[in-house]
Amino acid sequence: MLVAQGKAGLVLAADARAGESYCCPGCRETVILRRGRCKIAHFAHRPGSHCHLSEGETPEHLLGKTQLLEWAQRRGYQPRLEVYLPAIAQRPDLLLTVGTRSVALEFQCSPLSLRRLRERNAGYRQLGIPVRWLLGAPYRRNLHSQKVAQFTQLVGGEMGLLFWNTTRSCPEVDRHFARCSLISAQRRRPEEIVRLQMNRLARLQYQHPTPAIQALACRSPVLPLATCPLICHDLAPSWPLLATPPILWRLAVVKALMDLSPFHFWPRSAWYGWLEQAGPLEWLGYGCLNARQLHARFLRNFTAELVAAGILAPVATGWVLLARPRWFASPAEKLAVVRRGGLSPRFALK
Ligand SMILES: [Zn+2]
Repeated sequence: MLVAQGKAGLVLAADARAGESYCCPGCRETVILRRGRCKIAHFAHRPGSHCHLSEGETPEHLLGKTQLLEWAQRRGYQPRLEVYLPAIAQRPDLLLTVGTRSVALEFQCSPLSLRRLRERNAGYRQLGIPVRWLLGAPYRRNLHSQKVAQFTQLVGGEMGLLFWNTTRSCPEVDRHFARCSLISAQRRRPEEIVRLQMNRLARLQYQHPTPAIQALACRSPVLPLATCPLICHDLAPSWPLLATPPILWRLAVVKALMDLSPFHFWPRSAWYGWLEQAGPLEWLGYGCLNARQLHARFLRNFTAELVAAGILAPVATGWVLLARPRWFASPAEKLAVVRRGGLSPRFALK
């Protein structure tokens, strides 16, 4: 850490005097001043300390904090380093003053569980202090979708991950995690997305199918998943919300719709509940955003697609199944329909 308690108050490690004694503002244990030509001056707990304020102090973390301090000073945010907040026993890396309110900044370089992240966010919420999580270099490598979800924040009103780049000494926003199911690259034409997803579905079904895939195809005769209705294909990249590709959930919903009689009716209050149990929804754990709002928006968006495709219609007291989604006789027939503009009703939505 960069700040410790001295005899006359809090002291920055860069200003500390060798030979004086300093203690941790959290646990009150004596801390050691570390200073060298290649090192950022900092205080360290003694080996074996269990103080949670001693977690994750890597050289990158210390460097990033000093850079963040200068960055916030230049912007007039009156930053304070490592202010200990006794009411919640937490110490943000930086506490800024933006206008009349405080904002906490956390620079996270070490592993942090979803549970701990939620606890820390709950602490800040209790004090009414908004917090921003900036991620360090270890989070740039092979970030699993669960970690993406955990640290997703609204940046400029849109989902993103925030990073602090210690090489360039500036913040960065990463928004490249939005995906269509089963395909890696972004920015493809809708026709191409359908074709690639069909290929992947065929591979999932016929090479090493999992029990979940077998259950989706289970019917007499067996459903070739690649010939599924067009509504199953998610054509707009979406931020990770589910542990499995959304196309598999859409397939399960479509299969459940096939078992209903024409003009099946859902009272207004029943539709979303039905949708939630029609297919397995394994939500990823969000740490910084209201997950229930995200789930509701996901279900609303899919409902709007069903309406645009002419499958579902809103009526005064609820929803009616207008037409059951249509399976294709063959992949070739499906691709021909797509080429003739079969996807266009969905794009009337946008
Ligand atoms: Zn301590």
